[in-house]
Amino acid sequence: GSLSRHFSVTALNMAPISKETDFLVIGGGSGGIATARAAAGKYGIKSMVVEGKRLGGTCVNVGCVPKKVTFNAAFIAETVHQAKDYGFSVEHTAPFDWTTFKHKRDAYVARLNGIYERNLANDKVEYVHGWAKLLSPNSVEVTTDDGTKSVVNAKKILIAVGGNPTIPPHIPGSEYGVNSDGFFDIETLPKKVALVGAGYIAVEFAGMFNALGVETHLFIRHDTFLRTFDPMIQQVSVKEYERLGVRLHKRSHLTKVEKDAAGKLTLNFKEGEGEQSIADVDHLIWAVGRTPAVEGLGLDKAGVKTNDKGYIEVDEYQNTSTENIYALGDVCGHIELTPVAIAAGRRLAARLFGPEEFRTLKLSYENVPSVVFAHPEIGSIGLTEPQAVAKYGAENLKIYKSNFTAMYYAMMQPEDKAPTSYKLICAGPEEKVVGLHIIGLGSGEILQGFGVAMKMGATKADFDSCVAIHPTSAEELVTLK
Ligand code: FAD
Ligand code: NDP
Repeated sequence: GSLSRHFSVTALNMAPISKETDFLVIGGGSGGIATARAAAGKYGIKSMVVEGKRLGGTCVNVGCVPKKVTFNAAFIAETVHQAKDYGFSVEHTAPFDWTTFKHKRDAYVARLNGIYERNLANDKVEYVHGWAKLLSPNSVEVTTDDGTKSVVNAKKILIAVGGNPTIPPHIPGSEYGVNSDGFFDIETLPKKVALVGAGYIAVEFAGMFNALGVETHLFIRHDTFLRTFDPMIQQVSVKEYERLGVRLHKRSHLTKVEKDAAGKLTLNFKEGEGEQSIADVDHLIWAVGRTPAVEGLGLDKAGVKTNDKGYIEVDEYQNTSTENIYALGDVCGHIELTPVAIAAGRRLAARLFGPEEFRTLKLSYENVPSVVFAHPEIGSIGLTEPQAVAKYGAENLKIYKSNFTAMYYAMMQPEDKAPTSYKLICAGPEEKVVGLHIIGLGSGEILQGFGVAMKMGATKADFDSCVAIHPTSAEELVTLK
């Protein structure tokens, strides 16, 4: 429904595409839209955005937004369960209606697609629904929905094409699984699911399914997931997932997937040394990373260089190897987060088209906070302990830690209590805070303010100089001993 509505609106708007533009943006996702709107809306530059799928890109359609809404549903499921400990008698007479929820979520996303389209129009950005391909350093071929090909000449080009879920390793039947895009197509509440992967997506999806009462199997290659995070985060979250009932298959890999007539999957896998299998799986979801969307983009025609993993090489100003061609966001593979793509884009637009004082503007990729919407939430900024040891030497670090139970759980049965663990990593005699890692209730909302402090170069003494807010979990971060 939403998709066809979108296409019909676009079809009605089939004004001829401009043959010339000053700034052509390939990809109408987080980074592309932000950059084009700044260029046209703020600096009056004639700009065009070419988007092949749906406006808003990964984040709006198959990423942050529908994911967070689903996380909220999972959070409510937990809250309903916990309510009895606060004296509520909540009857599960109406179990979670995934189908209704899913359609409401789709409608919300469709609404956002419309808002993004109107925002582009308000800022006088020319929006073309179609696929773009570089023909030369300053010309692009655009193929619109009806198959028409047009050539657009552009003074400057931004590549913000993002990425796609990585194709899973080929094993017999791997094609019966879906990727993270497929997660958002699931129409009914599954009984049993399996996920493969150990990053943000696998951990977030597994936590949500489990909280919504789905039997959840998570296959990881090593002993922990989120292996790029601080060891404390890995330990606490893995232990908590197991305690919550996620069936974690460590040191495992799938060997064969079979599908029966009813569409249920049987997964054969190796775990440690043993061969095992599980049957009656409704969905298998591969979440083994993402790959830059550069195929067929004509990068070679424009001399734009990529690295050995296919990511576009850029300098700290988002310049590619070709003059007047820039790239940012997931296609550069540096830090794959929506606000990073947006921040890089706004700075790039200001640098290219803004006043003289913006000529050296660029995004600092240091101390970027990020949150994994896991159970409980994980917040992380700066260096992990192993990274800090490598950079400063263990003898120059002071590590502060705290493990406690948030007051929210004081009224609850032991089995309903989630852990909270905090770690501050401080360097040098002035104890500058170089790493902050938190897991526990509300971490997603707590992290942003501490991120500001760290960007300002806060020390442990600065943290301690701020009076605690009581009773909260975050107050622990300003009272660590
Ligand atoms: P995208 O948003 O992917 O946009 C690129 C666009 O370019 C796409 O719409 C694509 O269709 C289009 N395109 C590609 N090739 C062409 C072409 N040749 N012609 C025309 N158009 C083209 N980040 C967060 O910060 N917080 C989160 O909670 C979060 N959750 C996520 C959950 C999931 C499941 C996933 C997959 C990602 C999540 N992310 C999250 C990451 C975030 O979505 C990305 O970092 C962000 O969308 C990157 O923006 P981008 O502009 O680089 O690319
Ligand atoms: P990630 O790169 O975060 O993680 C993928 C992990 O899967 C790898 O690190 C690897 O871990 C594991 N893996 C790789 N290949 C295999 C395999 N063949 N079998 C089993 N496991 C495998 O990718 P995601 O897809 O989770 O997410 C992509 C990016 O999107 C994230 O890095 C993040 O930047 C962004 N994102 C952000 C979110 C947020 O801000 N909340 C939410 C979701 C995504 P190992 O080596 O341990 O096996």
